[in-house]
Amino acid sequence: MCGCTHIKEENCGIKKALEEGKIKETRYLNYIKIYEDLKDKEEHKW
Ligand SMILES: [Zn+2]
Repeated sequence: MCGCTHIKEENCGIKKALEEGKIKETRYLNYIKIYEDLKDKEEHKW
């Protein structure tokens, strides 16, 4: 793994895999959805 969030980073192994068709787009979009949900929870934690 490349150790980034795989969302905004340009040099991302996940994005590269997505471009090469190694990862399904639906899977990546699902990851973003989960990430956003977690981020939202973190922001409302305190
Ligand atoms: Zn990444």
